[in-house]
Amino acid sequence: MSGPDDPNDMAGLSGPGGLAVCAPLRLEARAVRRGLTDAAGGTGGAAGGTGGAAGGTGGGAGFEVLATGMGARRSRAAAERLRASAAGAVAIAGTCGGLAPGLEPGDLVVATVVIGPDGRRVSCPAAPLLAGQLRRAGLRVHEGPVATVRGLHDAAGRSRALDRGAIAVDMESSYLIDGAAGRPAVVLRAVSDTPRRPLLRPGGMAGGVAALRSLRLAGPALAAWAAATSPRQVLLAGPRSFCAGVERAIEIVERALDGAAAPVYVRKQIVHNTHVVAGLEQRGAVFVDELHEVPQGATVVFSAHGVAPAVRSEAGRRGLDTIDATCPLVAKVHAEARRFVSDGYLVALIGHAGHEEVEGTLGEAPGAMRLLQTPADVTALEPADPDKVAYLMQTTLSAEEAGEIVDALLERFPSARGPGSDDICYATTNRQRSVRAIAAESDVVLVAGSANSSNSKRLVETAERAGVRAYLIDDTGDIELGWLTGASTVGITAGASAPPAVVSQIVAALSGLGSVQVGERVAATESIRFGLPKEVRQS
Ligand code: SF4
Repeated sequence: MSGPDDPNDMAGLSGPGGLAVCAPLRLEARAVRRGLTDAAGGTGGAAGGTGGAAGGTGGGAGFEVLATGMGARRSRAAAERLRASAAGAVAIAGTCGGLAPGLEPGDLVVATVVIGPDGRRVSCPAAPLLAGQLRRAGLRVHEGPVATVRGLHDAAGRSRALDRGAIAVDMESSYLIDGAAGRPAVVLRAVSDTPRRPLLRPGGMAGGVAALRSLRLAGPALAAWAAATSPRQVLLAGPRSFCAGVERAIEIVERALDGAAAPVYVRKQIVHNTHVVAGLEQRGAVFVDELHEVPQGATVVFSAHGVAPAVRSEAGRRGLDTIDATCPLVAKVHAEARRFVSDGYLVALIGHAGHEEVEGTLGEAPGAMRLLQTPADVTALEPADPDKVAYLMQTTLSAEEAGEIVDALLERFPSARGPGSDDICYATTNRQRSVRAIAAESDVVLVAGSANSSNSKRLVETAERAGVRAYLIDDTGDIELGWLTGASTVGITAGASAPPAVVSQIVAALSGLGSVQVGERVAATESIRFGLPKEVRQS
């Protein structure tokens, strides 16, 4: 392996605001430099230490990659020089030894925390952002603590690192990261060896080659991270995240699990969020699509979106114990549908085909209800009596979208009757108001929510209608760094089914791109709570 470059090179490291990359070995530095040069559309870059406009907080401020040398002494010295440099962002890149099961040579490791030989921990909040960018580039990536050990054969250090939760070890990161001195910093390592595939065994060098290749391929993601670094303002929408119906539904499943000796089944996703479902699965809930998957006599929870009467009947026929987590505001729409139908009305339900809430509501009277998804659908309505038309709405629609359809309906059937009170629920309305408030001040809006969450998707559309770029993300890993480049104010909200923790994680990750000033725009306050069904009240 090569030795370090001239240590004095660090004195002129990177231009003001640029990206400084510290790689211990020349081979590692060359691999990263070529990756960054590729990202910048360059043609080479192996010989020199500097590069073009791949990174930099100022946009196009350039990058510089330097071989800083192996081990503690050289890394400490490099950190001192790095501290004095004008670089705007720091990346530490190189190879590492994999510790955790599942790591293979060539895999990339993005450090969430760097652990020193003395146990000191330095967190790297931007890790999920860089890891997500790398994954979208098709690379195998692991996120977790990386520990620095004293030498290649420091078996005791590796053992301590494992005890401290590290997934990989290196010999430099905990020293080099001190040189970042508060600037945005990431640690990116590529696995060259693992306990099953040590480097100094026959065939072990293949791991080193795979690691160098991965470092090169990581160049574009590293450049994207550097380009997104900047101090920025974060604007939180209020209210955001869980509504009363979602909190109630989750609590119902939790209480059912607490009081159950046997598995608790949940028909469909209890609420439309992957994190909520995964968390309840971990606690023992079994999610099924249909009732035939539930064993005879078992307990099944109906989701917050409600079910058609036919589903309740089937559950009764099969002797299932049912607990109904239907949101009371969805149940209200069902009751309105039954009332209109029994009064002889043709009921037009404004909503989206295939959504569970819509299927459940239409199931109240399939022969007397019609779905309207667009204003054009109104022309297909053929009521027996034009004076006996009523309309209802899915609870999570956007007010603008629903309003256009209602206008078309009233134009054709002026006497059409609507719901007694708004079907679009308070939580949907409030979250749309608050996203409009942040959209007016933001360069980009991030909406936390899963892809099948209707109210979350409406928040994206509402922000877009307000004239701002908006993106739906399940969590931090979905954020494309390019969305943030040049965005000095980032608005954040969350759909009614998205956990508040996701918003906290997004803010924390953004703090890894530069200092973050957090503000909030509160469009409404909420104090609504719904009671629990009797089946779980005592649990
Ligand atoms: S979004 Fe509205 S209707 Fe849906 S669960 Fe929440 S409160 Fe109930």
